[in-house]
Amino acid sequence: MQDGDLYEIYAVKYGEVADRAMSENMIGGDPHDMSGQLDFYVWAVVGRSRTFIVDTGFNHETAAERNRKLQRLPKEGLALVGVDAGAVRDVIVTHMHYDHAGTLSDFPNARFHLQAQEMEYATGPCMCHEVIKAPYHVEDVCTMVRKLYAGELTFHDGDAQLAPGISVHHIGGHAKGLMSVRVETRRGPVVLASDAAHFYANLEQRRPFPIVYNVADLLAGFDRLEALAGAPDRVVPGHDPRVLHRYPAASDELKGIAARLDAEPA
Ligand SMILES: [Zn+2]
Ligand SMILES: [Zn+2]
Repeated sequence: MQDGDLYEIYAVKYGEVADRAMSENMIGGDPHDMSGQLDFYVWAVVGRSRTFIVDTGFNHETAAERNRKLQRLPKEGLALVGVDAGAVRDVIVTHMHYDHAGTLSDFPNARFHLQAQEMEYATGPCMCHEVIKAPYHVEDVCTMVRKLYAGELTFHDGDAQLAPGISVHHIGGHAKGLMSVRVETRRGPVVLASDAAHFYANLEQRRPFPIVYNVADLLAGFDRLEALAGAPDRVVPGHDPRVLHRYPAASDELKGIAARLDAEPA
């Protein structure tokens, strides 16, 4: 790995939902344990010559509809770490749930990266089931179809190298076409799990988050994430508030908002 192929990674928090019962966060969780805050993030992977954004969050309308707290639009959060959404050339959409694919239009010059299976899932017969359809927002899916017809979408099938030092990996289980992102950094490869692991506890206890397409694939995905990272502490879960405590803030002013994942965790 050459120095030029190493990336900085920023986790940028844009929203949250507090007071979730742990039973909403993992299968078998205690329904009385109300300690489960869930944070919403987008991630910026910043290299010497290229920047990749991972996921696009949701907007004000979706926050109101779903009773989520939006603290800043994803593009506003990215601006805080020096990324201009209008200038971004590559956006990796890990899967098309409402909290990951919601502000696609705020990245007008980007090429979007998606697993082919995820588009098939989000537009096919599985969406006849209310419980599977619930985390998808039809406007986001339609926007993605328009991106496809406009020639702005690149499909991946399984694992793919996007550039030296950054690759995507299909991890089944949570959504049919979810992919996690592996990034070479100064502390070794870091894996952005997205919803392949919502919380550290899902990983540590090997207990799935209850929104699940295939439990066995999701459980196998936990092993895959750790194998891709080479060490459990280089896997970053997609919604855990502890990420902002474990990793150093991007700057003093951004404590509780943005953290550096290419730095060693505390
Ligand atoms: Zn999801
Ligand atoms: Zn999510």
